[in-house]
Amino acid sequence: MKEITCKLLVIGAGPGGYVCAIRAGQLGVDTVIVEMAKPGGTCLNIGCIPSKAIIHAADDFAKTVAMAAGRNAMGIKADNPAIDLAKTMAWKDGITGRLTMGVSSLLKKAGVKIVVGRAKFRDGKTVAVETETGEQVIRAENIVIATGSAPVELPMLPFGGKVISSTGALSLTEVPERLAVVGAGYIGLELGLAFAKLGSKVTIVEALDRILPLYDTQLTQPVARRLAALGVEVLLGTKVKGPSSNGEALLAETGSGEERRIAADRILVTVGRKPVTEGWGREELELDMDGRFLRIDEQCRTSMRGIYAIGDVTGEPMLAHRAMAQGEMVAEIISGKRRSWDKRAIPAVCFTDPEIVSVGMSPDEAKAAGREIKIGQFPFSANGRAMTLSAEEGFVRVVARADNHLVLGIQGVGAGISELSAAFGIAVEMGARLEDIAGTIHAHPTQSEAFAESALKALGHALHV
Ligand code: FAD
Ligand code: NAD
Repeated sequence: MKEITCKLLVIGAGPGGYVCAIRAGQLGVDTVIVEMAKPGGTCLNIGCIPSKAIIHAADDFAKTVAMAAGRNAMGIKADNPAIDLAKTMAWKDGITGRLTMGVSSLLKKAGVKIVVGRAKFRDGKTVAVETETGEQVIRAENIVIATGSAPVELPMLPFGGKVISSTGALSLTEVPERLAVVGAGYIGLELGLAFAKLGSKVTIVEALDRILPLYDTQLTQPVARRLAALGVEVLLGTKVKGPSSNGEALLAETGSGEERRIAADRILVTVGRKPVTEGWGREELELDMDGRFLRIDEQCRTSMRGIYAIGDVTGEPMLAHRAMAQGEMVAEIISGKRRSWDKRAIPAVCFTDPEIVSVGMSPDEAKAAGREIKIGQFPFSANGRAMTLSAEEGFVRVVARADNHLVLGIQGVGAGISELSAAFGIAVEMGARLEDIAGTIHAHPTQSEAFAESALKALGHALHV
């Protein structure tokens, strides 16, 4: 096969890699992207998008079940709700299919050449790709490593049979009667809640003494209450030991030394993800590491000239929008623009019930950084729109410097609050002060009014509490 030469080669077409390649193509950079699975990577195929589709379907189903049981104050009635999970999965696959096709056509529109196969470095400028029709050698002036991440496997619960990762959970065609979930982080809670709503008896085992350790307990309390209301048992401070000898249960030991036998048809292991740093010829290179991740600087340069790395392979937070922002930046740097990582905050959204959003510093982080702060918190129970949506649980909280009122962070928990992450992000990124947020007219009736009210509260004169 004829050797390809190009200015930019991107390895991996997840959100980091495909955005990098599209932007480079738009800027006229001669670009090739290699992907061994499907365009869109983890996020579009087995991560963000399919999980949100299943979460939405589960929400709708749970609402219908509640209506059928007469638990509906609005007077809506429903009869005998049922779910055909195979059909739900087919609907979800339709969405991911449309999106991955969309990524391919955007790459083509930007003039990017797509090579399908596993890429392996031969040296710092050359990569060989095992394609269906033989080996394709690609020589590039610049190479971007965007190989992403994979689920962490526990030695006592290797994936296979009834032990599944998020990928397995997102392709189940029957709702498991009993589901054990190991890990109460992002995936464990998002999918654990979804399967509880679909009708599974869910038990969550978490090693630490709290759920969602990344967020403060004020933010996670409404989620804990919802878990309890759905009958999900959460075992905190509990160690998993492995499957029982007959394979019918998960064995665990609680913090107080009590042995627990959790009957389970499926065991979903969600104890974190690890960067994909093997399988692409790292041994042929001299790349510095930062723990288990590839070390990068503020321009995503690795320790080797002309080699960049972006996305999950470069560290926390392992989020799609961070990978995309890095990808866009690197494409612009390679095209000759002056760019470096200058973001004030990377929003984090947990699509639990209710949803949690955090942008910038929490009160504890601000205090730990030695800041004198003002905090304003406004509950959705005092927001008219939230009442009309039966979504009164939760609040918006703003954290600002006490002296000049510069907003340091904004957090919130509530139904549908993920959509407020944009407003929170812009406020932090643009260096808003409390007065800027309070002085912006927020449309009525919307949940976003809680944002303006939280700023007013921090200024000492909230109107609706
Ligand atoms: P990836 O998306 O992992 O893509 C890497 C790509 O590289 C893959 O397609 C892989 O096949 C390819 N590749 C690897 N090695 C090679 C090779 N040698 N040759 C060729 N190709 C190769 N993040 C959010 O921000 N919001 C969410 O709601 C969210 N939900 C998630 C839900 C789940 C269940 C999971 C698992 C993850 C979720 N994430 C979410 C995380 C998000 O998916 C990742 O942060 C994001 O996909 C990282 O993008 P990336 O480009 O770094 O890597
Ligand atoms: P996570 O890091 O969010 O949570 C893992 C949890 O497992 C932690 O609470 C940890 O204490 C616990 N744990 C670890 N070892 C354990 C053990 N042996 N027994 C019991 N509990 C154990 O990891 P995840 O849920 O697998 O998600 C991986 C990553 O994917 C996230 O960190 C995030 O970057 C990304 N993601 C993001 C979203 C989103 O943005 N909404 C959604 C899903 C995934």
